[in-house]
Amino acid sequence: MPIKLYNTLNRKEEIFVPLKKGQVGIYSCGPTVYWYQHIGNLRTYVSNDLIKRVFLYNKYKVKHITNITDVGHLTSDADTGEDKMERAAKKEGKKAEDVANYYFSVFKKDLENLNIIFPNAWPKATEHIKEMIELIKILEKKGFTYKTSDGIYFDTSKLKDYGKLARLDIEKLQAGKRIDLGEKKNTTDFALWKFSPSANSGGRRQQEWDSPWGIGFPGWHIECSVMSSKYLGKQFDIHTGGQEHIPVHHTNEIAQSEAAFGKVPWVRYWIHFAWLLSGGKKVSKSEGGLYTLSELKEKGFNPLSFKYMCLTTHYKKPLNFSLEILQTSQNSYERLKNITSEIKKNRQKTNKKNIENAKKQFLEIINDDFNSPKGLSFLWEILRDERLNNTEKYELAIDFDEVFGLNLENEEKIEIPKEVKKLAKERKEARKKKNWREADEIRNRIKKLGFNINDTEKGSEIKKL
Ligand code: AMP
Ligand code: ZN
Repeated sequence: MPIKLYNTLNRKEEIFVPLKKGQVGIYSCGPTVYWYQHIGNLRTYVSNDLIKRVFLYNKYKVKHITNITDVGHLTSDADTGEDKMERAAKKEGKKAEDVANYYFSVFKKDLENLNIIFPNAWPKATEHIKEMIELIKILEKKGFTYKTSDGIYFDTSKLKDYGKLARLDIEKLQAGKRIDLGEKKNTTDFALWKFSPSANSGGRRQQEWDSPWGIGFPGWHIECSVMSSKYLGKQFDIHTGGQEHIPVHHTNEIAQSEAAFGKVPWVRYWIHFAWLLSGGKKVSKSEGGLYTLSELKEKGFNPLSFKYMCLTTHYKKPLNFSLEILQTSQNSYERLKNITSEIKKNRQKTNKKNIENAKKQFLEIINDDFNSPKGLSFLWEILRDERLNNTEKYELAIDFDEVFGLNLENEEKIEIPKEVKKLAKERKEARKKKNWREADEIRNRIKKLGFNINDTEKGSEIKKL
């Protein structure tokens, strides 16, 4: 059955045709490792995981690459501002490399907690400087570059279809920002190589390398062109990332790669993810990032409830986060876990046709642009379907979970959050004082947190709703 996906490049849903039959190469822009990944970042990695799992479910051989940005990402996407890694290293009084290694290791732990399948490789920008210099040399030879006092720039006017991914109106952009051009020839031109301050003014950077143009560091966009093509070839199937990358980062990756490699389109399908919002605004590191996964864990949330919450919204739709929504997702997720462990118990004879029919319907749903919300609803429908016996339901749930990655097969003990335990204690006190009204109120608050409290002869028992 074909996989349909929305391709940003052509602004329409298309049937996926791989470059090599049965195989797919996917490149995902990875984290800039100067701080913890917040839950907004993590929504993007859950979306990446979903896409990859759908291809695996369709029996594709998947090669997936996620880069690690450990140099060159400036505070402004327009090649100005401080390098995020340098700034963090200064602030923490550490070596940039140690900062990068620490946040990278936390990131990997987060992915593990979210049951996200690791990529085949995590190339680091700092380990590919030589290749970046080589690519800039090719662009220079082909006449796409020029030098300013602060770096080597890509001349976007030399590429006739520059900006096609974002459908940029170049003339309007050029007219609007002429004043801020500085030494740049065109507003949309971007840095391939930036000179270290040491080359002109004496201030040194921790991360800098020698190059044919002077000591410096690579631009953020060249990193992704180099690392994707090194591992996936000069043309590949799918590139993913957050939607904010469309007008600058991904537009510039395309420009460099098509100019250097001459393969058009460089990437055949572009998939962009919508954001996690809070109060209608994008969750972002510069605004504090809202929560990390560990912070949610401390509040008694299972990371997989967060994943469940992400999957209840289509990847192309914004998702407004709140602790209440997460709590509702946690209740649903834990109900799902309880049901699957219950129906696993007594094996019954299964009807092959029933299972095949349901699998076919599920495949149709998720092959339609990775429709996880519809896929989850279908799973719930299956679990309620009286025509299916428990073993059939169980086999289907575990099969569908190859796409969701919600760990339905493994039974874990459901932990009672601290807050619930505290409320239960308060309720016990209220009952002791025969304050029945307060005791009932507390019971309702416990219910809202997804737990029930039963009074037995032996005392009170807390159970998941
Ligand atoms: P960064 O570490 O800042 O380079 O971001 C890593 C990834 O997280 C990028 O692909 C971003 O597009 C993505 N991202 C950042 N903020 C959000 C958000 N609020 N919702 C979803 N994805 C995000
Ligand atoms: Zn990138």
